[in-house]
Amino acid sequence: MQTSNSKGNAKAERRIRRLSLHLTPAAGVAAEQLEMATCGRGKVSVDTASLSRYMRGKHRDIQEKIFAYFNANPRLQTPVEISKDEHRDLCMKQLIGLVREAGIRPLRYVVDDPSKYFAIVEAAGAVDMSLGIKLGVQYSLWGGSVLNLGTKKHKDKYFDGIDNLDYPGCFAMTELHHGSNVQGLQTAATFDPITDEFIIDTPNDGAIKWWIGNAAVHGKFATVFARLKLPTYDTKGVSDMGVHAFIVPIRDMNTHQPLPGIEIHDCGHKVGLNGVDNGALRFRSVRIPRDNLLNRFGDVSRDGKYTSSLPTVNKRFAATLGELVGGRVALAYSSVSVLKVASTIAIRYSLLRQQFGPPNKPEVSILDYQSQQHKLMPMLASTYAFHFATKNLVEKYSQMKKTHDDELVADVHALSAGLKAYITAYTAKSLSICREACGGHGYAAVNRFGILRNDHDIFQTFEGDNTVLLQQVAADLLKQYKGKFKGGTFAVTWNYLRESMNTYLSQPNPVTARWEGEDHLRDPKFQLDAFRYRTSRLLQSVAVRLRKHSKSLGDFGAWNRCLNHLLTLAESHIESVILAKFIEAMESCPDPSSQAALKLVCDLYALDRIWNDIGTYRNVDYVAPNKAKAIHKLSEYLSFQVRNIARELVDAFDLPDQVTRAPIAMRSEAYSQYTQYVGF
Ligand SMILES: Cc1cc2nc3c(=O)[nH]c(=O)nc-3n(C[C@H](O)[C@H](O)[C@H](O)COP(=O)(O)OP(=O)(O)OC[C@H]3O[C@@H](n4cnc5c(N)ncnc54)[C@H](O)[C@@H]3O)c2cc1C
Repeated sequence: MQTSNSKGNAKAERRIRRLSLHLTPAAGVAAEQLEMATCGRGKVSVDTASLSRYMRGKHRDIQEKIFAYFNANPRLQTPVEISKDEHRDLCMKQLIGLVREAGIRPLRYVVDDPSKYFAIVEAAGAVDMSLGIKLGVQYSLWGGSVLNLGTKKHKDKYFDGIDNLDYPGCFAMTELHHGSNVQGLQTAATFDPITDEFIIDTPNDGAIKWWIGNAAVHGKFATVFARLKLPTYDTKGVSDMGVHAFIVPIRDMNTHQPLPGIEIHDCGHKVGLNGVDNGALRFRSVRIPRDNLLNRFGDVSRDGKYTSSLPTVNKRFAATLGELVGGRVALAYSSVSVLKVASTIAIRYSLLRQQFGPPNKPEVSILDYQSQQHKLMPMLASTYAFHFATKNLVEKYSQMKKTHDDELVADVHALSAGLKAYITAYTAKSLSICREACGGHGYAAVNRFGILRNDHDIFQTFEGDNTVLLQQVAADLLKQYKGKFKGGTFAVTWNYLRESMNTYLSQPNPVTARWEGEDHLRDPKFQLDAFRYRTSRLLQSVAVRLRKHSKSLGDFGAWNRCLNHLLTLAESHIESVILAKFIEAMESCPDPSSQAALKLVCDLYALDRIWNDIGTYRNVDYVAPNKAKAIHKLSEYLSFQVRNIARELVDAFDLPDQVTRAPIAMRSEAYSQYTQYVGF
C-alpha cells in the first residue's frame, strides 16, 4: 500500500516528467510546425556564427572577462530572493570585485574609449541590473561630472580614487520639488570671500536632494548641483549665477560617518534596483573650498569675481547639462540589452512550449500561433533595429568626445534624447508582453521577467523623463525647420528633411499610392520615404498649429495645446532614424546569408511600423486601401518567415547562458531550482 508521502512523490515525479518535456522534447514528439497558407517560398538559411560576428561589438572580450569573473564567483551572484540591505551590500561587493579583482577600470574607458565603457555597463547590467546602475552612478555620473565639468586640478585629485573605488560618490541633482526642471533647483552655494569657501545650504524641505544613488549607504562624495550665489556688496546682497556643480564630501573618509552639516536619509525599498542605495541629502551651512567648484564652464576668483567663456546663464546651463549625455547613451544601449534578454527568453520558450494542435496530431509549438508571432516577431525585428541604432549612437558619441565638433555635439544630444526615450519606452512595454507570452511560467521570479521589468521600468524616468526628452527632440526639429526658412542647414541627423520637406510635402503620388507588389513594399526607398513623409507632414502641420495657437495662448500655452502632436513628431523622427540606420547596417553586411536574414527582419520592422500607423497614411491617401491590405498581409507573412529563423536570430545575440537563464525553457540544471519555487 502506498503511503500518502510516496503517493505525493509519485505525483510530483509525474509532474516533473511532464514539465521536463518542455526542456527537452522527447524524440518523435517534437512540435509540428504549422504551415502558413500563403507560404510558398523557402526558409532563409542563417549562419548564426557569421551573423553574430557582424552584430558583435568590438569589446566582446571585456564582456566575456566580466561574465567569466562572476561565473567563477558564485558568492557574487544575486539570488532570486534577497532583502534590500543584503542586495545593497552584495551590489557593492560585486562592484568592488569587478574593479579590484577582475581588474576592470571603467573610468579610464570613460575617457579613452567610451564604447568600451558602454560594453562594461552592458555586461555588468546583464549580471544584475543594480550593478550596472551602481557602476553608472559611480563612473558616468559622479566620475563623469568630475571629468566633464571639472578642470585639470579636479582630475588630478579625484581620478584614481574614483577609478579604484576609494572615493565612492554620488550625483546630486534632483530635489524633492524639482526633477525634470533642473533650472528650478534651489540648493544654494554662496561664496564667502573671507574664508575663500562656498557655503552649501538646503533652503527648504523642497530643496532636499532626493533619489541620489550611492547616498544612503556607500557614498563619500557628491557632485552637488546648486545655484552659485556671489555677494554683490549693494542692496541686492547676492547675485544668482545659475546652477553650477560642486564637489561636496559627505562622509568621513575613516569613520564613514556623515560629515558635520550633512544629513542623510534613506529613500527606502524601491519597485526595483534595490541593490542601489538611493538616499536624500540635506545641507546645513556646509563649507567647501572654492576649488571644489567644477569650473570648466564658469569660475570664481579669489576676490569673488565670476568669469566664464559662455556669455549667458542659459548657455552655461546648456553646456553643463550637455556634458552629461553619456548617461543617456548608456541607458539606451543597456535598454536594448534588456530587450535582447527578454525576447530571447520568450522566443526560446515559445519554440519549446506546446499547446493544442490539429486533431490526432502532436501539439504544436506556441510560436506557430499567428498571435504569438504577432507579439514576438516584430519585437525581435525592433531589437535588431535598436541594436544598430544604438551601436551608431555609441560610435557618434565616441567621435564627439574626440573631436568636440559642434555639429556632432548637437546631433548626439538630440539623438541620445530621442533614442533613450523611444527605446526604453518600447522595452518597458515589451517586458510585459514577453511575460504574458510565456504564460504562467513567465510569472515565476526565477524566469526573470518580473525582475527585468521592475529594474528597467525607471529607465523611462531617470537621466531625463521620456516625455520631457521627446519634447527636446521636437523643439530641435522645429528649430531646424525654422532655420531652413532662414537659409540655415540641417544638422546631420535631420539632413533627410532638407530634401524631404519639398518632396514629401507635395500631394502623395496617386500612382505610387496604388503600387502593392512585394518588390515595391520591400524596397528600402519606399519604406524610408513613407517614414520620412510622415515626419515631414507632422513637422509642418505642428509648426502651423503652434503659430496659430501662440497668438491667443502665448508660446507656453500653444506648446501645451500641441503637446501630443509634438511627441508623435519626435517619435516619428526617431523611427525614421532607426530605420535608416538599420537599412545601412543591412546593406553593409558582408556575408550574404546574414544579409538576407537582416533584410527579412528589416522589412518586418518597417512594414509593421507602417501598418501600426496606417490611419495616418490612409488619411492623406499616401497608401490606397488595397495597398494598406497588402502591407498588412506582407508583414504577417514576414513575421512567419522570421519565426522560421527565430532561434538563429536570438542565438546571434550571443548572450551568455547566465544572462538568458530561464530554467523552464533552457537549462535543465536550473530546472530543479525552478521546482523549488513552484513548491514541488
Ligand atoms: C531609482 C532612481 C534613481 C535616481 N537616481 C538619481 C541620482 O543618482 N541623481 C539624481 O540627481 N537624480 C536621480 N533620480 C531622479 C530622477 O532623475 C528624476 O526622478 C527624474 O529626473 C524625473 O524627475 P521627477 O521625478 O521630479 O519627475 P517629474 O519631473 O515631476 O515628472 C513627473 C511626471 O510629469 C511629467 N512632466 C514633467 N514635466 C513635464 C513637461 N514639461 N511636459 C509634460 N510632462 C511633464 C513627466 O512626464 C512625468 O510623467 C533617480 C530617480 C530614481 C527613481
